[in-house]
Amino acid sequence: MSDWEEKCTRCTLCCYSKLPLYDTLVIFMDQPCEYLDEENKRCTIYSDRLKLNKKCLKVNRMRAIFSSSLPDTCGYVLWAKQNHIRFPRARIVELRKLDE
Ligand code: SF4
Ligand code: SF4
Repeated sequence: MSDWEEKCTRCTLCCYSKLPLYDTLVIFMDQPCEYLDEENKRCTIYSDRLKLNKKCLKVNRMRAIFSSSLPDTCGYVLWAKQNHIRFPRARIVELRKLDE
């Protein structure tokens, strides 16, 4: 696994639905991706995910810096924040229940 991929903590929070509103707000919802194994916190199609799920996006540096669909706790977002290069386009509101 590359240094970049190791930044992902496998929290799976990016695998839940999001509701974008007017380009200024992204609301994170409770609905998981159909391929997410919630109990074991793993993607069931990981190696083919980009082929089989067109909505699934690989997190590259540009997404870590600009994407509003990553939660503030994401390892890639934290990397961008540590380097002072995090500029999400929309504000993020989380409605889903996070781990206790
Ligand atoms: S396909 Fe993508 S969004 Fe769905 S569970 Fe796998 S990694 Fe998450
Ligand atoms: S939100 Fe970030 S750290 Fe969590 S699974 Fe998605 S890419 Fe990995």
